[in-house]
Amino acid sequence: MSTLDTPTATLPFEPYRELDSAELTERIQAVRSQMGKELLILGHHYQQDEVIALADLRGDSYQLSKLAAQSRDCRYIVFCGVHFMAETADIVANRPEVLAGRDGWRVPVVLPDLAAGCSMADMAEIEQVENCWDELSEVIDMDRVVPVTYINSAASLKAFCGRHGGIVCTSSNARAVLEWAFERGDRVFFFPDQHLGRNTSMGMGIALEQMPVWDPFADELGGNSEEDIRGSKVILWKGWCSVHQMFRPEHVEMFRRRDPEIRILVHPECPREVFELADEFGSTNKIIQTIQQAPAGSRWAIGTELHLVNRLKQEHPDKEIHFLSPVVCMCATMYRIDLPHLCWSLENLAAGTPVNVIEVDDETAKWARIAIERMLDIG
Ligand code: SF4
Repeated sequence: MSTLDTPTATLPFEPYRELDSAELTERIQAVRSQMGKELLILGHHYQQDEVIALADLRGDSYQLSKLAAQSRDCRYIVFCGVHFMAETADIVANRPEVLAGRDGWRVPVVLPDLAAGCSMADMAEIEQVENCWDELSEVIDMDRVVPVTYINSAASLKAFCGRHGGIVCTSSNARAVLEWAFERGDRVFFFPDQHLGRNTSMGMGIALEQMPVWDPFADELGGNSEEDIRGSKVILWKGWCSVHQMFRPEHVEMFRRRDPEIRILVHPECPREVFELADEFGSTNKIIQTIQQAPAGSRWAIGTELHLVNRLKQEHPDKEIHFLSPVVCMCATMYRIDLPHLCWSLENLAAGTPVNVIEVDDETAKWARIAIERMLDIG
């Protein structure tokens, strides 16, 4: 029997491309009404406006997973974000104790477009990280190295940290996590974002020379000498966010020349040269709070994803808000989540033929959860 003959066949995606925004929005709203509180649509701050408008909850990646896990009614999650976020939601929302409380019901976490990955997360693959660990063990005592992964990483890397006494961090708690790590070891192995690792470590007084960068494509020792590795405090992975990497010191200088009083506010995924010039820095949430609390009439140039900055502009017309770059820096992979994909995945979910369900295997989830829980215990 062909799938087209089957009443329960997955709805194909192609026809959804032909629908206009008004019809897609109406059909999405119809599924939301039909599924009620059992359905949670999560929208990351970097999503486009027409998608964010349809989300039940808006937040950063970890905040959204936590909120979803706390919902008593939620039976289905549609995550308008990128792949690692859907993995984290699956790990957190389907913890064994929560599953037991739901009579074993595993909440499916749907990513509307599987091509919505994260270029930064993709820069560290588990095999590369394991090879690095092995190579390092020929030079230093790995019992004294604590691996730390940014939450923007694959579940397999979080599990690696869980297995090796390590931990997960977010952009808002990176410093507290590094302090935790230094209470347990002499060195930190930080991946995948070199900028968050470097900016945070420098704020703790660690010198640049003590932070070699590990290039997974270099022939030996990630492109470092044995001396570099022995003298290290933090070994940084050569990864970066393609969005935040685009902000440059000359952008800061341009805004300061135009308006010496303007405040420069950046995300710690920005390169060090930009980070050091900024007046303030913080995670996505901190950036939002800073603008919310800023006095009317204050002027800001913000270095983070374009959709978020534009939304802050719209929501705070009493403040002058600029995007800290003359070129467009938006998260192209987040942008893949659009109304056609959202409508298609929702209608399949409502029809009982879920598509793009992200499921982390039990063993990986167990160790990843250990690394996440260590972070939560820090408070
Ligand atoms: S903004 Fe950067 S770190 Fe965030 S999902 Fe996009 S590529 Fe990944």
